Amino acid sequence: MIIVMKPGAASQSIDAVVSFVKNSGLQTHLSQGEEVTIIGIVGDKSKLPTDNLVSFKDVDRVVAVTESYKLANKKFHPEATTVKAGNTIIGSDTMTIMAGPCAVESEEQLMLIAQAVKKAGATFLRGGAYKPRTSPYSFQGLETEGLRYMQQAAKETGLATICEVVSQEAIESAVKYVDMIQIGARNMQNFILLKEAGRSGLPVLLKRGLCATIDEWLNAAEYIIAEGNPNVVLCERGIRTFETATRNTLDLSAVPVLKEKTHLPIIVDPSHSTGAYKYVSPMAKAAVAAGTDGLMIEVHDNPSCALSDGPQSLTFEKFHKLMDELAPFCELAGRRLG
Ligand code: PEP
Ligand code: MN
Repeated sequence: MIIVMKPGAASQSIDAVVSFVKNSGLQTHLSQGEEVTIIGIVGDKSKLPTDNLVSFKDVDRVVAVTESYKLANKKFHPEATTVKAGNTIIGSDTMTIMAGPCAVESEEQLMLIAQAVKKAGATFLRGGAYKPRTSPYSFQGLETEGLRYMQQAAKETGLATICEVVSQEAIESAVKYVDMIQIGARNMQNFILLKEAGRSGLPVLLKRGLCATIDEWLNAAEYIIAEGNPNVVLCERGIRTFETATRNTLDLSAVPVLKEKTHLPIIVDPSHSTGAYKYVSPMAKAAVAAGTDGLMIEVHDNPSCALSDGPQSLTFEKFHKLMDELAPFCELAGRRLG
């Protein structure tokens, strides 16, 4: 449920409603727009004498929120959220470009890639130190050592950094070394991990689960925000469908749907959704046209020798070309690139 206050409502009127709701044993969430204040209510509504609320001074109307996610809901928070990570702001008028290897393989490799993506205009370095691989015999990541290289690369280039976490232990390490954590598709409904990410104090990129609906995904975001961490960014990375021509099917319509349902920023990952480097560029451009706040793109110095996801990784040259070609798309979408 939300209580919409009249435009220019006095702060005493807002305080009176908030106290009334809190005294009834529920929690409030205030969203103060330029003119209108919205008071979101979380908790057992049966405890709240709703009829009394409309008679409070400066209350315009009381609206039911039927969706089970509240804090992630645009009705609770009509203004778009921006998320600060390192020295970047996601969800602003700048298109956020996160680029880097699927996995951190060595210090030299990461440094080389960090410098190349920075030169091409990326503001964020991605790199996996904990790799959730389908086969237990595939490269599993350098773990803390990889995180240290991420920190080193950030120091040298000024790029913000993001790394996937797969456990509480990984979160504890990531907090020391990177600017943002990622919950991968395979863990989108690992509710214990979501709660721990919510308590980490770091901004969180939440990837869409392989078979998750948008509602399930937003409920997963709610888990993180409900722990007191409002800095959540959603990442569409393709879903499983009957189609086998691409690794996954990029659900681009998720972008406008999410823009309607939530205030959280959205990033599109054309690498994991297509699984093939040649489709990355067209889908990146389409994502910009669809209204994404940013892109996550895998880049490798030598994709044919990559320890994971080589076939979908762009060479430096291809990434540079993509960045050049993206500029007019970003301009049309009203965003600056880099
Ligand atoms: C990744 O970003 O490296 C990754 C494993 O992605 P996803 O969780 O989307 O598969
Ligand atoms: Mn990958």
